[in-house]
Amino acid sequence: MSYLDAGRFFSENSTQKLGQDMNNSKNNPIPVWRQKAACRGVDPGIFYPVSDEDAEDAKLICAQCDVSELCLQWALDHREHEGVWGGTTERERRRIIRRRRRSA
Ligand code: SF4
Repeated sequence: MSYLDAGRFFSENSTQKLGQDMNNSKNNPIPVWRQKAACRGVDPGIFYPVSDEDAEDAKLICAQCDVSELCLQWALDHREHEGVWGGTTERERRRIIRRRRRSA
């Protein structure tokens, strides 16, 4: 797999964010679930919409992704503030976190 094939996970923006994660996997710099991402090779810009209303294209791709639950959990664990991950926008992820805190 080339870096270009990896799409958003290796965009200029996300490489820095994922740097620590990648460094922890010396022999396999891309965690397995990311290799199965439906967004591989897709323009990363789609996943960083200007508003939630513009997130539909990204969400349609996420809806067909086999690893969307893992992706969402990763975004929640890493407090990913920007973009669509696991079919959710930043606002939706904040809601999920609040809901989980209330029920804990
Ligand atoms: S859920 Fe969406 S952002 Fe996450 S890996 Fe799948 S397609 Fe990419």
